[in-house]
Amino acid sequence: MTSWRLVIHGGCGAMRLRPEEERAGLAGLNDALDAGSRLLHRGGSAIDAVEAAARVLEDDPAFNAGRGSVLAHDGHIELDAAIMDGRSRSAGAVAGLRRVRSPISAARAVMENSPHVLLSFGGAEEFAREQGLESVDPSWFEIPERRGQLERVLKSGGGFDADVKFGTIGAVAVDVHGHVAAATSTGGLTAKRWGRIGDSPLIGAGTYADDRAAAVSATGSGEYFIRAAAAHEVAARIRMLGESLQQAIDAVLQDIQSLGGTGGLIGVSPDGDAAWGFTTAGMYRGRADAEGREVAVHGAAT
Ligand code: ASP
Repeated sequence: MTSWRLVIHGGCGAMRLRPEEERAGLAGLNDALDAGSRLLHRGGSAIDAVEAAARVLEDDPAFNAGRGSVLAHDGHIELDAAIMDGRSRSAGAVAGLRRVRSPISAARAVMENSPHVLLSFGGAEEFAREQGLESVDPSWFEIPERRGQLERVLKSGGGFDADVKFGTIGAVAVDVHGHVAAATSTGGLTAKRWGRIGDSPLIGAGTYADDRAAAVSATGSGEYFIRAAAAHEVAARIRMLGESLQQAIDAVLQDIQSLGGTGGLIGVSPDGDAAWGFTTAGMYRGRADAEGREVAVHGAAT
């Protein structure tokens, strides 16, 4: 038996947070660790645990996923998510959802109940409806603060700025059977346009899980994570270069930085190793195992 482990993130960035914002984020991380740990502790699967943890963070307005997601250029919210099971490398993903309450569960339904990996926009919405997943009015996802953020970004001409906080959420887990899984869910980037899809729902970019190496979830400037095939690259470095999980995460983040991107990665390996890293000032992050737990936002990256 392996020892179970769960690692989560709630996005990274400059993290200049008001005390009440920071408290709300840390409380959300603890709730998500509770949901995932409960399952793993009683022998549940990594895939169930990452979905459970992600669903809690999606419903929490402190994060840019599900409720509380950022607004696109036209003021709408479009949600992306992916999930992957390291046992079989089965994967499911959705992009551009506007009404499905839990994009991560829609991604899981794509993985389990469709022959496809990635569904987008109207088709993904229709599939989720057919699967009986809960729909909400798009206004349910919106919190007032995000409207102000969009206005600020539009006024400044758009694009990334130093104050940006990537609030995407992710979870990776290894269960007592040594299987790994990864989940990532996001509203993407504030003021995104033209049906932009980021790294989060792209298998191999923002999300990857392989029992031969690791489960990985990303947050940060998605375009760079796509170009680096970041999550897959972590797994590939472990498998082919024999690097440790931490070495592989650090190397991939360095590579992304050399391209001009910033962000963070979390990972677990089938032998129970857990690691994280980020090249921003902070990252909402947490980890739990049978011995205890830790949540943090500032401080050292490893
Ligand atoms: N990586 C996400 C994206 O580019 C953003 C984030 O991490 O918050 O869509």
